[in-house]
Parts: sequence; structure tokens; C-alpha cells
Amino acid sequence: MSHAIDVDQLRVDYGPLHALDGVSLSVDYGQIVTLLGPNGAGKTTLVETMLGFRTPNAGTVRLHGRDPYRDHAEVVARTGALLQRGGVWLPMPPATVLRLTAAYYEAPRDPDELLERLDLRSCARTPWRRLSGGEQQRTLLALALLGRPRALLLDEPTSSVDPEGRRVIRETIDAERQRGCAVVITTHELDEAERLADHVAILHRGQVVARGTLDELAGADAATVVEVRGAVDAARLTKRLGIPVEAQDPTHLRVRGPADPQRTAAIAAALADEGATLVALRTRASLEDRYLAIIADERERP
Ligand code: ATP
Repeated sequence: MSHAIDVDQLRVDYGPLHALDGVSLSVDYGQIVTLLGPNGAGKTTLVETMLGFRTPNAGTVRLHGRDPYRDHAEVVARTGALLQRGGVWLPMPPATVLRLTAAYYEAPRDPDELLERLDLRSCARTPWRRLSGGEQQRTLLALALLGRPRALLLDEPTSSVDPEGRRVIRETIDAERQRGCAVVITTHELDEAERLADHVAILHRGQVVARGTLDELAGADAATVVEVRGAVDAARLTKRLGIPVEAQDPTHLRVRGPADPQRTAAIAAALADEGATLVALRTRASLEDRYLAIIADERERP
């Protein structure tokens, strides 16, 4: 079976600028792919081209096996989108815009169910222009879900959303994945990406410079990273554990080697004996660490 989304050697130009320069990417049904990258990397251009709002200068895009530009109506009927520059007519409240938009689809979801799911009941009759940023984002996500999409393209869905709203959005996206929907999310929120993504692709200057699962991106250099409160002597800990421990800074230690339950327990016990409080422990490099390292390497390239 073909992928839900297939992008092959895609190039999109704005005049002399190659906003996308040979991007290839695929997304399966039931998979979440997160697109990361600095401002101007080409993420929005990629999402808009996947939706058929831009035509490729070279390469191909297929959604559900169709060309989103040529077969636009067919593709958008099966695809939900939340775009950065998306909006709603200013006086229109969420309940009304959902009810009206439902008429566009053959078998829409129940707008009331979506208002409930996205925690929009209390503002269902508030005009769009008076909604908070987070309420607007949740309304846009409700609109994207209305047609029971087989693919969802979400451009920064959690921007300006508070932690409770983020959780609602995260749980909703996760439920869509479990329903078998293919999901593409662009974000600058690396912790969100880490919580949701099955697969991550990092764009820089229009090219995919890294991709993989979180474990693959963490790299072969296995380590346990420990955050502590209180002074810890890394040399003494090295001796005690019999494994190299480096102090990245006064509160972060890196214990080299693959993590297993025995090692994790030994690290916790050793820290307790040293009188340090364990604040956090992770068994692979954080996505933020890897992202920053990858982008720093890319910026050094001529
Ligand atoms: P951000 O994280 O800031 O949203 P992005 O990764 O989504 O950025 P794009 O919006 O796709 O990046 O922009 C990619 C590049 O293309 C940028 O350099 C941008 O200035 C340029 N660009 C985008 N749209 C146009 C346009 N309509 N005309 C000319 N240049 C454009």
C-alpha cells in the first residue's frame, strides 16, 4: 500500500530563492511526523505545497496517491489542515463556523462533539475576534477534524496555547493517530514534538538535514543525563559507579554508556549517598540537545 503522504525531490522557488530544495518525505496512515527547523527553513511552504496551494518547480507531492494541485477538491475533502495564516470571519463564533463548515463534508463529525472534545463549550458562542489565541487554535483544530480526515497537516498547532490547551490538543492528535490518520505537525516546541512524534524531520534552508525516530536522532552515543540539585563531584561519582561521569554544568551530569534498569538504580543510589537530589533523569539525549547540535553544525557549513 502506498504512503498517506509522499513527497519526492520537491523543489519550490520564490523567485531566485529555493524555499524547498530536494525534499523527500513520506508519512504512513497512523503515523505522526514532526517537521522542525528554524524560521524560514521552509516548513510552511512544505505544508502549503502538500495541500496543493503551491505548485512544485520540480519533484512530486502525493496525498492519498493523488496530486494535491490537480486533484485538489478530492485531496482536501480527505485532509484536515490548520494553517498559520488561517482564520475565521471575525463575528463568527466557534459553534456557528463548525455547523456551517460541516455542510461542506459528506459525513461530518458532530460539531457538538468537537466543541466538547476541544474544550470549547464555554466559548462556543463567542465571536472569533474575541476568542483568546488558544481558543482560536482549538477552533481551527476542530475545523480540521470536522471531515473525519485521513491526513492532518498542522502548522504550529500549539502556538500561543496554554499548558491545559496543549494537553487537549496533544490528546486529540494522538486519538487521530490511533484512528489511523496520517499527521504532519510543524512546531518550534521541541518538548511537544518529543511527546507526540513517531518520526522527526529537521529542515534547514529548504533541505531535510536530519530525520528519524527520537531514538535514532539521539544517536549512537548512549548516555544517561541526570539533573540534580546540590553539589556533586563527578570524579567521585565516576569512581563509585565505575563508569565515566562528566559534569556538563553544575546541575547536569552525563553518565556514558547504554541505560538499563540496574544502571539507573545505581545512579540514583549513588546520588542519594552523595546528598544530591535527583531532579530529572533521561536515558537518551533530549530532542532539544540534538536539534541545537544539528542546526549549529548546519550553520557552520559554507
Ligand atoms: P517559520 O518557522 O518562521 O514559520 P518556515 O520554516 O515555515 O518559517 P517558510 O514560511 O516556508 O518557512 O519560508 C521559507 C522561505 O521562503 C523564507 O525565507 C521566506 O522568507 C520565504 N518565503 C515564504 N513565502 C514567500 C513568498 N510568498 N514570497 C517570497 N518569499 C517567501
